[in-house]
Formats: sequence, C-alpha cells, structure tokens
Amino acid sequence: MSSEEVAAGTGIHISGLSKTFRSGRRVVQALDAVDLHTAQGAFLSLLGPSGCGKSTILRILADLDSPSAGTAMINGETPAELRRRHEFGIAFQDSALLPWRSVESNIKLPLQVAGLPADKELVADLIRLVGLDGFEKAKPAQLSGGMRQRVSIARALVVKPTVLLLDEPFGALDDMTRQRLNLELLRIWTEKPATTLMVTHGIAEAVFLSDVVAVMSPRPGRVVEVVNIDLPRPRTPEMMRSPEFHKLHDYLQELLFGRSGHGGVASE
Ligand code: ADP
Ligand code: MG
Repeated sequence: MSSEEVAAGTGIHISGLSKTFRSGRRVVQALDAVDLHTAQGAFLSLLGPSGCGKSTILRILADLDSPSAGTAMINGETPAELRRRHEFGIAFQDSALLPWRSVESNIKLPLQVAGLPADKELVADLIRLVGLDGFEKAKPAQLSGGMRQRVSIARALVVKPTVLLLDEPFGALDDMTRQRLNLELLRIWTEKPATTLMVTHGIAEAVFLSDVVAVMSPRPGRVVEVVNIDLPRPRTPEMMRSPEFHKLHDYLQELLFGRSGHGGVASE
C-alpha cells in the first residue's frame, strides 16, 4: 500500500485491552493487555489457538462486547460511534442468513436495519461481484454452504463499510471453495480497502490476504508477535508458490506450532 493511502496510526488501535468474563463463581480471563496497531485501510489477520480470545477482540471492535480494561478505537473513532453510523461490515463463520428471505432480501437487510434506502444497483452489483447472478430470488436452503457465505459477504459489504470484521468467514468450507472465496474477498477489498480484521485458522489465507498478521498466545490471549506481510500488491494466486510466501508461511507455522510440533503457542 502506498503512503498516501495509509494515514499511519488511524486504523485499528487497541491498547492494554483486557477482558474478564464472570458467570457465577467462574472467572475467565480471555484477554490480557492486548496491544495492536494498524494503519487505516490495512488488512489485519488474527491467528491463534482456539479459545485465545480472537472472537472477543472482534466483538469488542464491533461494539458487541465491552473491554474490562484498555481501549479499542478504529479509524480514530470508538466502536460505538462507528456502529451508530453503520460503518461496520461483519461476517461470521455461520452465514446467519434469515431462512425465509431471498438472497436479495438478505443482502438488503443491513440497509433496512440502518433505515437507509435500498440501493438496487448496489445490491445487483454485489450479487454479481460474489457470483450469484440468477440466484437473487433463491432462499438460503436452496444454496450450497459456499454460496451462503458469499451472500453473507455481500451483506457485509452492502453498507459500504469503512471497517470490515470477519470471524472465520470461510472456516466451515472445503479448501477449494475457500480459496475461491478468498480470491473474491481480495478483489472486493482491493477495490475499496476497508480497515479490516479477519480471524482465521488458515495460515496461507492470512498471508495471502493480509498486510499484518498477529499471532496470539493461548488463554489469556496476548499478542505474541506481529508479522508484516511485505508481499507486493496486487496479490495473485501464483504468489502462493513463491519462496517469500513459503518463508512467511513457515515462520507463522513455527510461531503457532513450534518446530516439528513442539513449543509453538498452539502445541501445548
Ligand atoms: P477464540 O475466538 O479465540 O476461539 P473466544 O474469544 O471466543 O476465543 O473466547 C475466549 C475465551 O473466553 C474462551 O475461554 C471462552 O470460553 C471465553 N468466553 C467467550 N465469551 C464468553 C462469554 N460470553 N461468557 C463467558 N466466557 C466467554
Ligand atoms: Mg472464535
């Protein structure tokens, strides 16, 4: 990304973020003093073992949960302000579509919730962009898993978000579908780079899509290392076969799982 495109320090700004959950006498410290900083319009991925607090960070950024300590800001604003202005595009692992609504009307939903006029042209564009032309009137039950996830990506984009929050959006899909959707996501994001946080288990997709990858420790989650992905843009699938790509992939794999499976954050 060129320097005009990034106003340094105004992307994701997380400082000293801690989160403790209490239910009855049970106390779970999910996050412990997490610091993360990216530039505006940058694509950040979070990698880490299950239960290390990745979704908790995403939910706090989305204003769906609140910190126990510390602060979280995006593009210079609080999550609450951004939510009020409908700046978020959010997609979860489970596409969470309304089963009685068509593809088209699921995609329009965030506009209706925000009280904004349904932009017919934009909705049609998004349907084309995610390759669902001809399925406008189909119900979720008539679609494959990959198609449902594409609907949820289109729905996340319909408010033209300045902030994109993706929690394992393609986690439940097979590798082929996942790779195709990653390419589509990359294309969409490149057209209009939103400040992005993606939670994923896929090291290759994190390297392929991101400007920055943060690796987290097991609970309580901390940031173990922040790795800059200095591969050029535009990214192409061929890059996944380059030595630079493999080097980054292996480095992250070692951070997560250690050498031959010993000593990484996810191997305990
Ligand atoms: P990840 O997304 O990395 O798998 P989460 O952020 O979902 O992890 O959860 C981190 C930890 O916090 C887990 O131990 C989880 O059980 C706990 N946790 C998450 N949400 C809640 C909640 N609402 N109440 C109690 N514990 C929670
Ligand atoms: Mg999670």
